[in-house]
Amino acid sequence: MAGGRGMSTLLSTKPLDRVADFPAIPDGWAYLDTAATAQKPQAVIDAIARAYAQDYATVHRGVYRRSASMTTAFETVRERVARFIGASSAGEIIFVRGATEGINLVAQSWGRSQLQPGDRIMLSVLEHHSNIVPWQLLKDRDIGIDAAPLTPEGRIDLDAMARMLTPRHKMVALAHVSNVLGSVLDVRRAADLAHDVGALLLIDGCQAVPRMPVDVGALGCDFYVFSAHKMYGPTGVGVLWGKAEHLELMPPVQGGGAMIDRVTIEKTTFAPPPARFEAGTPHIVGVIGLGAAIDYVEAIGLHAIAEHEQALVRATRDALSSLSSVRLFGPDDSAGIVSFEVGDVHPHDVGTILDESQVAIRAGHHCAQPLMDHLGVEATARASFGVYNGNKDVDALMRGIERVARIFG
Ligand code: PMP
Repeated sequence: MAGGRGMSTLLSTKPLDRVADFPAIPDGWAYLDTAATAQKPQAVIDAIARAYAQDYATVHRGVYRRSASMTTAFETVRERVARFIGASSAGEIIFVRGATEGINLVAQSWGRSQLQPGDRIMLSVLEHHSNIVPWQLLKDRDIGIDAAPLTPEGRIDLDAMARMLTPRHKMVALAHVSNVLGSVLDVRRAADLAHDVGALLLIDGCQAVPRMPVDVGALGCDFYVFSAHKMYGPTGVGVLWGKAEHLELMPPVQGGGAMIDRVTIEKTTFAPPPARFEAGTPHIVGVIGLGAAIDYVEAIGLHAIAEHEQALVRATRDALSSLSSVRLFGPDDSAGIVSFEVGDVHPHDVGTILDESQVAIRAGHHCAQPLMDHLGVEATARASFGVYNGNKDVDALMRGIERVARIFG
């Protein structure tokens, strides 16, 4: 049913009314929680179903034809990801469980092999916990952590960061787009600042990859991570990209099948990257689904998606700022994400009342407690957009918030 609808709309890219591609979005439901996870288009669901129902076999090991063709499909997605984010080769693409695992991999492998006691990591106040805690796990190595402050608008303050950076900083790790404020980082400048003191730059691209074109070569970073499920793909799979020269130096953090060159009982030599970092049977079908998700967003066009979400953000911020009880967070040009407060109503109550009006938003600390401390709040309400949203979702949100204001006087 929805497969046919999905096929027919895939051809038209404007206007960006894609809700018919998404079977799990019923009529009249405003899904505004894409920053947590995106709904799945029928094309991705079909690719996953086909991979299990028709094409399924293991990868890399089988001598029979089915396994060989599954291996080809799997490795083709690696090449597809490399082109999608501008990596220089598929060998720089490591499949992981998600952004969280990607950052932990770099912290444990690169961090434990390259850092000396007394070295420091530079983060920012707006980072997601998954770009804070993995670095804190290195504290047994006497690794210090600093956090760049934010500008009054809610961007990472790169001028302040420039003043804080020293040659002791060996890694700068920052979000490309804040999952709370939607603020977009000037990655090129952050890369120059990091490199000026001899540090590397890791970018958490979770909220950027679904929303804007990303070219890691042009951005000048050293590592880039993202999760498939936030860009219309399946859960359980994500990408760590690293420059080959860094990956070469990094030891494995998990041992098992597929990551070895030769094993004896006494010792093991390891495969080169990316296999060195992919122990065990991978999420074969997840990777196939990720390939379909890339096809899906590229058919629409990342520039078109960026423009579409910017327009929705503008409409939402304009409407919310007309309500005197609403406090808006983040800059006006935020990418696809709007955080706010309604008077002194707890964001959970805002979320619950909106749910009764068929509007799904996120309320909470968004795994960014240091940012909540900085904003002086415990939680925010957050609306975030995807390709399926339109002005009617903004209208539904506004009607819901007017109801919140009425209920709470
Ligand atoms: N970083 C950011 C900016 C995020 O928004 C998220 C997900 N909320 C993550 C990291 C973690 O992603 P995952 O849970 O898919 O590993």
